[in-house]
Amino acid sequence: MKEYSSLRIGGETNMVVVRSEEGLVEALTYARAEGSRIHILGEGTNTYFGDNLTNLLILKMEIMGVEIKTLDGQTIRQSDSFFYVTAGAGERWDDVVLLSVKKELWGLENLSLIPGTVGASPIQNIGAYGVELKDILVSVRVYDTRTESFIELLNQDCEFGYRDSVFKQEPGRYIVVAVTLKLSSMATPVLSYKPLDALAHKENLTVVEVRDLVIVTRQVKLPSWKEYPNAGSFFKNALISEKKGEALRGIYSDIPLYETSVGYKVPTAWLVEHIAQMKGVRVGNIGTWPNQPLVIVNYGESTSADLAFFAETICKKIMEKVDIVLESEVNFVR
Ligand code: NAP
Repeated sequence: MKEYSSLRIGGETNMVVVRSEEGLVEALTYARAEGSRIHILGEGTNTYFGDNLTNLLILKMEIMGVEIKTLDGQTIRQSDSFFYVTAGAGERWDDVVLLSVKKELWGLENLSLIPGTVGASPIQNIGAYGVELKDILVSVRVYDTRTESFIELLNQDCEFGYRDSVFKQEPGRYIVVAVTLKLSSMATPVLSYKPLDALAHKENLTVVEVRDLVIVTRQVKLPSWKEYPNAGSFFKNALISEKKGEALRGIYSDIPLYETSVGYKVPTAWLVEHIAQMKGVRVGNIGTWPNQPLVIVNYGESTSADLAFFAETICKKIMEKVDIVLESEVNFVR
């Protein structure tokens, strides 16, 4: 499986490629007959695998296709302001972003260059630079393994939260086959985060300019997994109470705290650097990326145990020093 994980970690198991809804049902029937556990895989950019996998069938999702329609189901007209984009779960996320940007549609530009497939995007409610998938998502077409039928879940049914959704809350129940997004032909830039705020006063700002800045920013800060195997942010940012935030600010005057509806968000990258003091640190072939310590890189041949040990070391140091429990953003399938 290491060939199918951007962290390049994992042992051997069986895999079937799913290219249609009928194919999905067939694969599930086969897995049931074999008594196999299943795991749905997109591009593997947020997952690493155990070294000894038993009784596990990987369903590699390759249902393709992208369709752009007006709200009344017609194809694009110049006069329309909003459009529905429906993409198959196997499409690469950034291909859909690029397509929408080329058509001068707003909504996805801040989410440029996020690795992975369309099918994976609602699972953790992908987000970047002040935009989350939930802000533009209309519905998700899924196979409900409980009722054994294909259904459409509306945005509110998905129970989206910070890197969270019903798909994480009820693991294994739903299999995403397509996602529908609502995009706008009117400029709707979200420029609250640095460095996008530099574009705030730019006249006639285009969606291409926003995408280009997001791409350059990500490329400077984040390692390409093809060169340095990684799975993006390894941990979620920490959400803490207001009281705890103020107490920490008393000790660490430069701690960045962002207000949320439930207290403060602390960038975990800051905790890894200043509390765990593990920015750019390597143990064997596993280490944090020097420009963004929230990213853990596999620099060579590593086992899942090596990675788990390294991640646990970070968690332990932060837990011991500031009593914050980190949550993993990356899936460990074993
Ligand atoms: P950064 O600018 O170094 O900031 C660190 C963290 O502070 C971010 O994760 C962000 O939280 C938070 N933050 C920064 N400005 C904020 C603002 N104006 N309001 C509220 N919160 C703010 O972050 P970065 O690592 O370069 O990442 C930039 C964006 O890309 C972030 O949104 C990040 O989540 C996203 N990203 C995601 C992944 C992934 O694998 N999931 C990887 C890289 C980057 P939020 O995370 O809540 O936005």
